[in-house]
Amino acid sequence: MLPKTSFAVMTQTSALIYIVEDETEISELLEENLRALGFRTHAVQDSAGLFEALDREAPDLILLDIMLPGEDGLAICRRLRLPGSKCENTPLIFLSALGELADRVVGLELGADDYLTKPFEMRELVARIRALLRRAKRVPQLAADQADVGADDEHGSIWRFGPWRINMASHTLIDENDVTVALSAKEFKLLNLFLRNPHRVLSRDAILDRMSAGLDNYDRSIDVQISRLRAKLRDSGRNATLIRTMRGDGYMLAVAVEKPPASERKA
Ligand code: CA
Repeated sequence: MLPKTSFAVMTQTSALIYIVEDETEISELLEENLRALGFRTHAVQDSAGLFEALDREAPDLILLDIMLPGEDGLAICRRLRLPGSKCENTPLIFLSALGELADRVVGLELGADDYLTKPFEMRELVARIRALLRRAKRVPQLAADQADVGADDEHGSIWRFGPWRINMASHTLIDENDVTVALSAKEFKLLNLFLRNPHRVLSRDAILDRMSAGLDNYDRSIDVQISRLRAKLRDSGRNATLIRTMRGDGYMLAVAVEKPPASERKA
């Protein structure tokens, strides 16, 4: 069936972007530019406005300011990423005047996909928006792997897989003899992706997409990262039983993951 006009095509298919920004000048500029490129936009000034809008329609992507009146962007992000939330996996970019590394890291750990410091170049923002929307389309079915640490995991919840336990808050592995093994940030991020998608083959592309989100100088060699993680897991390459190499396809966590019940995790 042919649509009546090209405009109809655009309005049917263009991505909806929510802008949460209390500075009207900035949100107007964003709306103007993004609409000119064919995106649909909806700007709100605070968390109340955002959650009201979310009740009506889920967006394809959220631009989120950090310094907001009332609930700040970090707290909002935490709520958005709660397991089962409508926006658990919605691409999210922080826009903030806070360019400090610590804020970037906190933002990304809370589950943001990217972080841009104000003032930013509109072209760069648009490129990042498009990259995230493409990625969301390409790997739509991966579970909540965007969150390095889900909001449910902050109180030290322990997950089990194979012979290991892992403390999701401290990023520490614990073996059968209660010996702990610390993971680097990258190792944890990679393992977290597998733990949230057990028994699923993750292609190198899908892994790269998730791992590189928001990191400027990510080491693109996925295989090297996998080797390092396997070494920590004492899972030797050729005969790996935990993270298995799937010929031509990527990698798969070949054991079940046991999580504490949600009620315990949130306690
Ligand atoms: Ca602000």
